[in-house]
Amino acid sequence: MLFEDRNRVKDGDHTRHPELAIAQWAGANMAPADRAEATVYTSGEHCPMCAAAHGWVGLGRIVFASSTPQLTQWLSDLGLPAGRVAPLPISVVAPGVPTEGPVAEFADEIRALHVLAHR
Ligand SMILES: [Zn+2]
Repeated sequence: MLFEDRNRVKDGDHTRHPELAIAQWAGANMAPADRAEATVYTSGEHCPMCAAAHGWVGLGRIVFASSTPQLTQWLSDLGLPAGRVAPLPISVVAPGVPTEGPVAEFADEIRALHVLAHR
């Protein structure tokens, strides 16, 4: 493991996603060939901002436990309004990045965490 981080948006800056921090760290600390070989593991699929950063720095595969369509449905089920940024999947924002996910056996647990976070 080269880098790990967590979501820090509760500190007030809604751009403080760990996936963006990973891309920025990789751009500053990894050679391009090493970035292309790297895999990023995340609990939730990258948002458009992070997917773009991932693509721009040339990182490799992304493995995500839950997808953007799942998150969008879960938040809608909770009655939350749609966000101000289009919920585009990685495959649309950075189509050259290989992805794997969602992982079906994590769906119930991750959905429950979102319910807890938004109640
Ligand atoms: Zn993000």
